[in-house]
Parts: sequence; structure tokens; C-alpha cells
Amino acid sequence: MATGNRYLGLIDKYRDVLPVSDSTRLISIGEGNTPLIKLENIPALTGKNVDIYVKYEGLNPTGSFKDRGMTMAVTKAVEEGSKAIICASTGNTSASAAAYAARAGIKAFVLIPEGKIALGKLAQAMMHGAEIIQIKGNFDHGMQLVKEVAEHAPVTIVNSINPYRIQGQKTAAYEIVEALGKVPDYHCLPVGNAGNITAHWLGYTEMGKTSGEHPIMAGYQAAGAAPFLKGEMIDDPETVATAIRIGRPQSWDQAWAAQKESGGWFDLLSDEEILAAQKLLSEQEGIFCEPASAASVGGAIRDIKNGKIPEGSTIVCTLTGHGLKDPDTAISQCAINPKAIDASLDAVKAAILDKL
Ligand SMILES: *Cc1c(COP(=O)(O)O)cnc(C)c1O
Repeated sequence: MATGNRYLGLIDKYRDVLPVSDSTRLISIGEGNTPLIKLENIPALTGKNVDIYVKYEGLNPTGSFKDRGMTMAVTKAVEEGSKAIICASTGNTSASAAAYAARAGIKAFVLIPEGKIALGKLAQAMMHGAEIIQIKGNFDHGMQLVKEVAEHAPVTIVNSINPYRIQGQKTAAYEIVEALGKVPDYHCLPVGNAGNITAHWLGYTEMGKTSGEHPIMAGYQAAGAAPFLKGEMIDDPETVATAIRIGRPQSWDQAWAAQKESGGWFDLLSDEEILAAQKLLSEQEGIFCEPASAASVGGAIRDIKNGKIPEGSTIVCTLTGHGLKDPDTAISQCAINPKAIDASLDAVKAAILDKL
């Protein structure tokens, strides 16, 4: 139970709407309670009168929204007596699973696609002591293997097919409505496996049970990994936004339901558009998210400009992960630093005056 004002994580805060009891040992690292930040400079660039907020999920303990689901999944795994968890991952799920397993004192096995995982995420999984299994295949291959191996070994799957993941992640919608004091008109988010859009829709519909109020859900995919736009699973997903490099979304039906029931849509962005949105947020708002996250803002800006999202709307975009997760992609987008100059007042003064 909470004492004073100390925040004890999202399960403690939202225990009334989560499947835990008073005696459940909570495996928490203080996840959730992330800021909802109003954009100050980007809305004007759209030429339209809109309010855009970003839910900065990169400020969770391991730097992505995955912690919301992982605190629930690991809490329940431990409650049910599991000694090991397993997941396939494009990176953030493995970082989160590794951290929560460490906290709980159980083992984590993570299957990751060889060479296709951002450096920060790999560093996390390694530091938290997960057993890392690199496979010569993509996320979809890893997911299939995890499902098969879990039938033959005493390990709990903590991918978003674990229903407790979705339960934990729905709390983001609760936090948004609480922070805004109302339900947003539109909610934009990147879509990979589609667990997060499913979880948000669950949260919004639970809250709106009596009022019927809910946002319109817009899901954005990378052009090279856009099964929802194609209308079918794809085999070789490719995108710079590795967190959404997924061709066989596990929450396929649930995500279509969220889109249809909310009156929303799916759309896609090229890698160039995704990276441009990431840079725009960094330069205009001081907010650094990873490439996949920026698909939400890039998609929202485009749909504000083209009028699909009307003027006067309140829009929330989920920034799913922190920019520091993927330093390589960030640095490769920026101009190389100029040559070192003399360590003298004159040289530094000249360098500054040159830029003013
Ligand atoms: C996992 C992840 C996504 C995709 O979320 P899904 O629930 O798989 O649709 C998007 N961005 C980041 C940073 C992620 O880690």
C-alpha cells in the first residue's frame, strides 16, 4: 500500500482495475506515471489550430512503455510460481524482461534478431543478466520459436500475447485521461505487434463504459513493415525503426477491432518521414524519442495538415521509447562534428560568432 506520497508503480496505483490481490508481491521498479507533455512549437508548423500532447513513455525505468506490461507479466509469473520468463524481442521487450526478472530474482531468456537490435537495448539485456539467444532470423521467427519452446520448457512467455502485458499497458490510457481531465479526440501511436494499440483501446473502453466516450485511434506503421496496410501478414519486414520491424503482428484481430470500433485508421510512413519526425521533435521540442516512436507524431502531423484530423482537436501521441536506445541511428542523421580547433579563447570565440 502507498505510504505518504511515494509512488509505488502502476500496479499499486491502478490495482482496482488490475488482476492482483492484496497479498500479491508486486514486482515494480516505479514504472508508469510518465509525463504528458504539450507540444509548444510543432503545432504552429502544421498551420492548423490543434493541441498535441506526447505521452513520453521513454521515461519508464528501462526507457520504453514495455515496462507497463512487464511489471504485470512478471508479477503474475512470480505469483504463479514461475522461475523463468522468455520472450522474443526487437529489443525493448528484452531490456524490460531482463530488468524485471533481475528485480524478481528469476531468470530471463531473450531471443533477439542477430544484428538488428539497437545498441542501448542490447546493453540493457546484457547488464541485467538475461540469457541472450541471438537467432539468424527476424522477430517473427523468434516469436514462433518462443511459442514452441514454451510448450516444452518451464518458462513463462512475457511477449504481449501474455494477457497480463495488455492489462499493465492499458494504464497509459488511464493516466492520459487523468492528466488531460478529459478523453482526447485522437490517439496516435506506432504499431508493430499491435499490443499497445490493443491495450490503449482496452483502457479507453473500460473508462468509457458508461459515457461511451473514447478517442479515435490512429495506428502508424513503417512502409517496409506495414501488414495492416497490406491487409495481410508479410514475410520480410524492413525498416530503420527496428522496434516496429514486424511482419506478423500477434494482436492482429484486436488491433483491427480497435481501429473499427473507434472509427480510426492505419497508415504508413517511409523511413525518411519517420526520421524527419524524430529530428523535428528533438529540435523543436527538446524531446528525444527513438525512431519507431516518432511514427506517431509524423503520422499525426501529416493527418492534421491534410485535414483528416480536424482543427480544434486534442491529440495524444505515444512516444514509445527513449532516443538514447538507438544512438547509432541518431548520430548517423546528424552532420559530422567539424574538426577540432585550438583550445584558445580566440578560436572558440570565432567558432561561436560564426554560428550566431
Ligand atoms: C514495442 C515497441 C513498439 C511497438 O509496440 P507494439 O505493441 O508491438 O505495437 C513501438 N515502439 C517502441 C519503441 C517499442 O518498443
